[in-house]
Amino acid sequence: MRLRSFQMRILLWTWAVLLAALAVIFFYSTDLVGDELVADTEARSWHELDSIKWLIDEHAPFAGEQEFDTWLEGLGIKLDQRISYISEGRVLADSEVPFTELSSLDDHSQRPEILNAMEVGKGVNLRYSATLKKEMIYVACRMESASGLPSGILRLAVPFSQVSARLDALRQNFIWIFLATLIFAALVSAFMSRNMSRSITAFSELARTIGEGDYTQRLRVLPGGEFKPLAESVNAMAKKIEHTVRTIEDQKGQLQAILEGMREGVMTLNSDGRIESFNSALNDMFNLPLSTLGRTPIEVSRRFELQDLVDRLISDPDQGSGTTQFDLMDSRTVEVSGVPFFDQKGVRKVILVFHDITIMKQSEKGLKDFVANASHQLRTPLTSIKGYSETLLDNPPANPEDGRVFLETILKNADHMNKVISSMLALAKSEQMGKTLTMVAVSGREYLSRAVNDITPWAIERSITVKTCTPEDEMFVMAEPDGLLHVFHNLLNNAVKYSPDKGTITVSAEDDGESIVFCIEDQGPGISREHSTKVFERFYRVDENTIDGSGSAGLGLAICRRIVKNFGGEIWHDGYGEGTCGARFCFRLNKPA
Ligand code: ADP
Repeated sequence: MRLRSFQMRILLWTWAVLLAALAVIFFYSTDLVGDELVADTEARSWHELDSIKWLIDEHAPFAGEQEFDTWLEGLGIKLDQRISYISEGRVLADSEVPFTELSSLDDHSQRPEILNAMEVGKGVNLRYSATLKKEMIYVACRMESASGLPSGILRLAVPFSQVSARLDALRQNFIWIFLATLIFAALVSAFMSRNMSRSITAFSELARTIGEGDYTQRLRVLPGGEFKPLAESVNAMAKKIEHTVRTIEDQKGQLQAILEGMREGVMTLNSDGRIESFNSALNDMFNLPLSTLGRTPIEVSRRFELQDLVDRLISDPDQGSGTTQFDLMDSRTVEVSGVPFFDQKGVRKVILVFHDITIMKQSEKGLKDFVANASHQLRTPLTSIKGYSETLLDNPPANPEDGRVFLETILKNADHMNKVISSMLALAKSEQMGKTLTMVAVSGREYLSRAVNDITPWAIERSITVKTCTPEDEMFVMAEPDGLLHVFHNLLNNAVKYSPDKGTITVSAEDDGESIVFCIEDQGPGISREHSTKVFERFYRVDENTIDGSGSAGLGLAICRRIVKNFGGEIWHDGYGEGTCGARFCFRLNKPA
């Protein structure tokens, strides 16, 4: 038990109060008892002296002083008291001094009790006796001369040690009671203070665990008395703290999940415009170093536009929000929106949200290009139609044959426009199809032969031979039937279109285990390396100025690529192999699992 501990202090205080109280009681009672004992001894001595005086009177007369001394000695032994008879200062008889030695005793006339007895008949004195060498109470009374004795003073000496012994015994008892009381007080105070200090320790233990972040702890055993309401309040407080902390943690977790789940980058800045936090999307966007926290946005992004926005938002209290846009080194475009906010202390801070708008920009550009290309594809035949129509109206040719040529040209351009628009619709459909596609196992053999049959009349017209080199089986692939037929049609149409008359088109298929690769090869002019990937882009044509009424708008291969991609396959131009002289287009589709 530490000296400064609560228990120790209670114990020491209890002892101090008890000691003070017991000391007062001790001194007061020993004093009182001592006085009472002296008074009682005196009273008994007087009583005995009266009895001795009566005995002397009864026994008288005495033959002489010696006989009186002998008689007094016997009485003294019986009563166990010292009895003296003094006349005019001389001791005539003494129960404890032999008769022969009486003459050597001092003159007793000046003893206080003798003087008093001579004056008023009675005298008492408490003092040390040199003769008996101990404290004595002397009581004396005057006796008139009678019975053969001269008048004198009868004196009784009672040893004071009897009184002292009783007082000592009383003191000793007191000390034992003292010690017993102190020990009992120590036990009681230890028990009580231990109960109290146990409660206080429980309170401080609970406060400590809450301080360390364990909010689930409670005071399970409630102390009684005045501590009960306090314990209930502490428990209620702990419960409230736990609830509040849980709510804050939940909200923090939700916010963290939202921030980490966002595709947009998020950054918060303190009132000095230095980075306080950021999410992983922003890290991916800028590949931020570990030392990003505490730095300014320009230090980590190297973009002045961003720093300008932050400076505006921090320094101008009227600035509600702001946006800026910039391109990154890897040609991505980022749009940043910034909003100021105030934390719980009212300090103005800024939150920035980074949107990667590259795809949006690309599709905007794609749309613009598409519109430009589509208008270009349609404007040329339309201008031609308009020109020939006006000529026919304003200056109708005299020769009806010339008029027919004009009308044929108008029809050819109208056909071209019709086919271009159909191709655009097919492309839009193929792009839309990717989102709602239901693929099934489709027989490659069946759809390939259907497409070959469809182009055969046209091929025969131009004496072109279509050679098929495919495996015997059905060649099942995962696809959507109409889409697969469209791809075969498109590639075979191009092959026939670009093949020379009497040429050969070779259709082949190969099973590589997981997929089937279909190839269509012709003997036309082929496609140079420079154009081999570009031909799959929308509106790309190697010779872009030809309008032949075939509706060639550079969309056919783009549609094929879209459809094959939708099926999870790939398409490419492969016309540079050994033995190939024209174009060779191949595409791969997965076999059913
Ligand atoms: P189009 O609808 O104009 O045929 P495609 O997308 O099918 O458009 O073809 C794009 C371009 O690729 C064509 O304009 C043509 O120049 C070239 N091309 C396509 N197929 C062949 C082929 N078999 N031989 C030579 N060139 C071809």
